[in-house]
Amino acid sequence: MTAATAEIEIRDPATDEVVGRVRPAGQDQVDDAVGRAVAAGRDWARTSPADRAGMVKDAAAAVRGVAEELARLNETETGRPFEDGLGGVLAAAGTLEQYAELGPLHRGRSLQGDWSATDLMVPGPRGVVAVITPWNDPVAVAAGLIGAALVTGNTVVHKPSERCPHLGRRFADLLASFLPDGVLTVVDGAGPTGALLSSHAGVDVVAHVGSIAAGRAIAEAAAATGAKVLLENGGNDALIVDDGVDPVWAAGQVALGSYANGGQVCVSVERVYCHAAVAEEFLAALAEEATRWVYRPAAEGEKALGPLVDRRQREHVHSQVAEALASGAVAHVGGAVPDGAGAFYPATVLSGCTPDMRILREETFGPVVPVRVVDSFEQALAEAIDDPHGLAATVLTPDMAHAQEAWRALPVGTVKINAAFGGAPGGAAQPRGLSGAGFGYGPELLDEMTTTKVVHIEPCPPRDDR
Ligand code: NAD
Repeated sequence: MTAATAEIEIRDPATDEVVGRVRPAGQDQVDDAVGRAVAAGRDWARTSPADRAGMVKDAAAAVRGVAEELARLNETETGRPFEDGLGGVLAAAGTLEQYAELGPLHRGRSLQGDWSATDLMVPGPRGVVAVITPWNDPVAVAAGLIGAALVTGNTVVHKPSERCPHLGRRFADLLASFLPDGVLTVVDGAGPTGALLSSHAGVDVVAHVGSIAAGRAIAEAAAATGAKVLLENGGNDALIVDDGVDPVWAAGQVALGSYANGGQVCVSVERVYCHAAVAEEFLAALAEEATRWVYRPAAEGEKALGPLVDRRQREHVHSQVAEALASGAVAHVGGAVPDGAGAFYPATVLSGCTPDMRILREETFGPVVPVRVVDSFEQALAEAIDDPHGLAATVLTPDMAHAQEAWRALPVGTVKINAAFGGAPGGAAQPRGLSGAGFGYGPELLDEMTTTKVVHIEPCPPRDDR
């Protein structure tokens, strides 16, 4: 297999200006990176967990030291507003620190065997972990997977997204500078380089956060090598607005869930089922709320909406909106591609959406709220459930019986009741269906990054002839 070798050009999505170019790694560079990771693995696995954690902690402090620089790079390469990007970088440092604390505490079990025997279950590193990440929360996502892999004694080859390669390299090179040579290596490139990495015989785990299509290709490649696969992929998260809620509050929750980071969050609200009893007031409030999300410096009471990551993403978003409008949906706000430079797209509210529309069936990953008005909570829940993705869902309801039925029945990894975002530290979920498999974060990620050996030790009997 060969990777495409043409240079990749990165443009600032706010201005269309070229801000960098990278040459994708081909087979030789991927072989070299994996070879170095394999070679470094022997000593890294033998390094005490406390020492490994100490290095990761030092690296986290260095990330804090350059947080603003990383946030600026994030903004230049992906359009993420500076403050949001800064939050992501600080979250990344926090995640590295957390894994540095948890790594040495991640342990196995002793078993109750015979008096003279010792019986243990001991987790150990899996080997080389390929960490392949997206652009939408690039630093925090990479930090989690890299941190968990390193503190458990694995070595890492990291391929950041081709849409923010300079940010990815700056971050990973900084971490690598605190680690022995070869423990963390970065390769540049897009899907073809990722494919070389995920099909490499020297890779033991492929951890991918990204699109469903790429996750599927990675799972197929890894099936041939026997590598373990961790997939945190796209979603199509439903939100239900039930009868009895305050429609203005519900509109605020939906806007936050759909427009934060321009709708480019894996757990963005992607489709809304609204009870007919509150629909009129809810839609009016949502349309008003949407006008507060602006792509110019936000004034008091407004919120910043950056550009989408690039024009390709904007075409993807608008194609779903245009199809919905052509099939009878109505745009209350937004829904048109603005003139001018950059990849901006307005906060959009659509009503009249029907289950056959792509905007309800597929991930949009843009600042669009498609609303479907339904006659009952039961219909809302049934339609929310009838979807092959399985990432997350939200229910806004004053009715505890509805809340209880919903969190039990929804076939997704994360359910939020009466809050579009939120959750206690340490929560970790397994996505289902098209959205992937395995824990991608939280303490459970340490289990994913290790493999357990059961050990039985008995004393050697004395020789008969003595
Ligand atoms: P993407 O899958 O196109 O790219 C992600 C990474 O995979 C990149 O590094 C890319 O180069 C690589 N890649 C692409 N094709 C590949 C292949 N065939 N083999 C190996 N690697 C390949 O996704 P994206 O557009 O960068 O990210 C957006 C997607 O990520 C959305 O669908 C979003 O929902 C998802 N996402 C999911 C989570 C989660 O936790 N579930 C978190 C963030 C983003």
